[in-house]
Amino acid sequence: MRTLSCLLLCAGALSADDALLQRADVAKALQFIQATDAQTVAQQIKIAEIPAPTFHEGERAKYLDAAFRRLGLTNVQIDKQGNVLGWRKGATDDTFVIAAHLDISFAVGVDTKVRKAGDRLLGPGIGDDSRGLAAMLNIIESMNDARFATRHTLLFVANVGEEGLGDLNGVRYLFTESSFRTRLKAFVSIDGSDPSRIVTGGTGVKRYRVTLKGPGGHSYGNFGRPSPIHAASRAIDRIADMEVPLQPKTTFNVGRIEGGTAVNAIAEECSFEVDLRSVDPGNLDRIEAKLFEAVRLGVEAENKARAASGAVLTFEMKLVSNRPAGEVEKTNPIVQAALWASGATGHKPLTDFSSTDANIPISMGVPAVTMGGGGTGGNAHSLAEWYSPVKAWKGPQTVLLTFLDFDSRHP
Ligand SMILES: [Zn+2]
Repeated sequence: MRTLSCLLLCAGALSADDALLQRADVAKALQFIQATDAQTVAQQIKIAEIPAPTFHEGERAKYLDAAFRRLGLTNVQIDKQGNVLGWRKGATDDTFVIAAHLDISFAVGVDTKVRKAGDRLLGPGIGDDSRGLAAMLNIIESMNDARFATRHTLLFVANVGEEGLGDLNGVRYLFTESSFRTRLKAFVSIDGSDPSRIVTGGTGVKRYRVTLKGPGGHSYGNFGRPSPIHAASRAIDRIADMEVPLQPKTTFNVGRIEGGTAVNAIAEECSFEVDLRSVDPGNLDRIEAKLFEAVRLGVEAENKARAASGAVLTFEMKLVSNRPAGEVEKTNPIVQAALWASGATGHKPLTDFSSTDANIPISMGVPAVTMGGGGTGGNAHSLAEWYSPVKAWKGPQTVLLTFLDFDSRHP
């Protein structure tokens, strides 16, 4: 572990934190993590091969429940929402949460078999977030090995509902409904891979399903009636032209569309799903208002063009996902701890915005960050997802150091 100290010295970033790296138990834990790197990657593959589409995380939850018990966590349970919980008692009840999400952003039936291609592992969910789950188990093992006594109680969580329409329901439940929610003082989600990237801000996300309905009919015989598909097209044309600021970054996307039954039938129904994002809550509200306007005008235009038929389309907009925006100050102890830890493991840390489980605590004023599980990867959320365990041990090392730094300096 001399390299770690050297890096700090060379960077001139010596502080009280450096004392942490001199501690024998800390050095032991960091060495343990590096020495067990291959087993952690094997664990990651095992986890990835258990399918866990959002709302269908049960089988993978059972696996994590067994792992938590094997590693000696206490009060291990699967809560009402489906999250797997396990505690590691500290001197106080103030609780520091380390979480990784169980679910994958793929439909039921997806083949999660992991394949090897050169130094890459291929498979849906191999990185996102099997890496985070495996890194979390590795951290627990390393803490057992080093016999850490900590001030904070640690709560390890393998949570449901991070992806897609899960709408962060696993972590939301922890912070809004669990019996111990008031004891949760800080939160780290292990998600993504790069240990130099510290997510300190949650991008706000709103998602709508827009459904348009009409009488339908024969394409020739009933020509002149309004069409939900034509109206949706008119609406989407307006959505595509919505103006958004570059800063604060604000985005929109129509990601799915469906409707109609035959080429020679006027559709009875058409629906599409829209994803809106902004790091700024005010901008998210503004783009949401523009979306409402675009849909209203699109439907109106179609109804007006086909007014002679006497038929009108109706529409409804359903909010299917709502992830709050927010940001933790750079001066917050959790951010300081994460930045220091990332530097201590040899990275040039940077802070970033993203939509992750940390959105929930951040929006409620509980300090939270999302950190990488180590290694490198790409094509997340696609069937071509890959992961390469390059210096993968640095992920769990960085998260462990973040907790230890926070725990020793910020009671
Ligand atoms: Zn993820």
